[in-house]
Amino acid sequence: MPVMRRRNYVGGDLVAAVDDDWMLSREPATGAELCEVPASNSRDVDAAVGSACAAFPAWANLAAATRAAYLFRLADLIDRDAERLARAESDDTGKPLLLARSLDIPRAAANLRFFASISQGFHGESYAMPDALNYTLRSPLGAVACISPWNLPLYLLTWKIAPALAVGNCVIAKPSELTPLTASLLGELCVEAQLPPGVLNIIQGTGTQAGEALVQHPKIKAVSFTGGTKTGTRIAGITAPLLRKVSLELGGKNPTIVFGDCEFEPTLEASLQAAFRNQGQICLCGSRIFVERSLYPRFAEEFVARARRLIVGDPLEPKSDLGAVISPAHLAKIAGFAEEARDDGGRIECGGAPIAIPGRCAGGSFFPPTVVTGMTYLCHLNQAEVFGPLVSLIPFDDEQELLDAANGTPYGLSASVWTGDLKRAHRLAERLEAGVVWVNCWMKRDLRTPFGGVKQSGIGREGGEETLRFFTELKNVCVAT
Ligand code: NAD
Repeated sequence: MPVMRRRNYVGGDLVAAVDDDWMLSREPATGAELCEVPASNSRDVDAAVGSACAAFPAWANLAAATRAAYLFRLADLIDRDAERLARAESDDTGKPLLLARSLDIPRAAANLRFFASISQGFHGESYAMPDALNYTLRSPLGAVACISPWNLPLYLLTWKIAPALAVGNCVIAKPSELTPLTASLLGELCVEAQLPPGVLNIIQGTGTQAGEALVQHPKIKAVSFTGGTKTGTRIAGITAPLLRKVSLELGGKNPTIVFGDCEFEPTLEASLQAAFRNQGQICLCGSRIFVERSLYPRFAEEFVARARRLIVGDPLEPKSDLGAVISPAHLAKIAGFAEEARDDGGRIECGGAPIAIPGRCAGGSFFPPTVVTGMTYLCHLNQAEVFGPLVSLIPFDDEQELLDAANGTPYGLSASVWTGDLKRAHRLAERLEAGVVWVNCWMKRDLRTPFGGVKQSGIGREGGEETLRFFTELKNVCVAT
């Protein structure tokens, strides 16, 4: 039986690609065919940008509260369809259904509501002079591109489109070709919400064909991108000579830093979560776990024991802690890192090779929680982003050695520090090269806070008003009085 065809959302309609090309999407957990989506190219991008530009003047001129009302309506529809969307996200990514239900889909609705709310209070500044009044105006940019990855598909897509739309831009969104499903369902919900045609356009397709055509399009005013550092570098190379505004949220190699005086049980549990949630495929995952030597033997023994007990299985089974990784190619990449670590003298304490799950998931891509010890912070495993359930335990003796190691990668997205000594926590928070530092917690997110990375983890900040600033142009008006 042919699989269901999902469509682009362009100019308010659900449409096939202009050239009627299609690409197949498979379920990571089973290998089965899931759906076909348009293999969009520059002609589709052109149509989407054209409809965004046509919709822009009217959308930009609406009252903020009217724009917000559309986003609230869309959030309500996401809530109404939460179970269907969670199942689609789980099928498309291989992540446990429970995780999609508790994290991805509620967060997508929350993104829309949050930016709809704060955009209504978004304001300029004023500066009085003896003989003049200065004030600032913030105007939407026009047609903007939002490009998102596969690990948190609807969560990250809405994280971008909600602020862009809320402040009056029109958007062309391109989800990852590996996870097209919830974005295409969102297009259907936009039709139902009667979002004005062209305000949001969602085009499916590969990064090299659809994504690059979008980034290059002469009428695009800004690009908000989340994905790998290599792709981010490529996009920066295209946008720099065009002097195009760009926000890049890229890869990470985040340290989890455990001191001997931490509260043992919560630290251990959070470190496991940070290592393996979503199969280790969250940019914020802590894949280098530095443990003070006094605690190292106890921590390592217990960490490995609990990693072994995590259940890898059918994402639809409530007892599965981990589901499938995103694709056979990604599975091979993770396995390659494990093999290399072994060859380089690392000890694989648990996991280390792909596993087969019998039954429905026999054709899926599964990799077990894997813990490596005995590797220095400079080896390839501890420098490169694996983006899978493969972590390294590294002992340290003092704070300076720890800082050198923690900061000793090209990345700088996030870090978590576990200690009972708050002075030390503050000291490290200041000296760690990361955009986000958590102290005695991990992945606690407040949508009002700035989010982003330093070094090769990105340029710019998203979150809260930072995103609204990115999606607007600032003007100074000086009026003589
Ligand atoms: P990716 O860079 O391969 O793809 C991301 C998106 O970019 C996809 O939609 C893809 O189609 C598109 N794309 C690819 N090549 C392009 C090009 N030349 N021009 C325009 N668009 C292009 O990343 P991925 O494999 O989907 O995602 C995993 C990566 O994302 C990891 O490195 C992870 O750390 C990172 N990530 C970062 C954050 C963050 O907030 N910093 C969040 C999630 C994921």
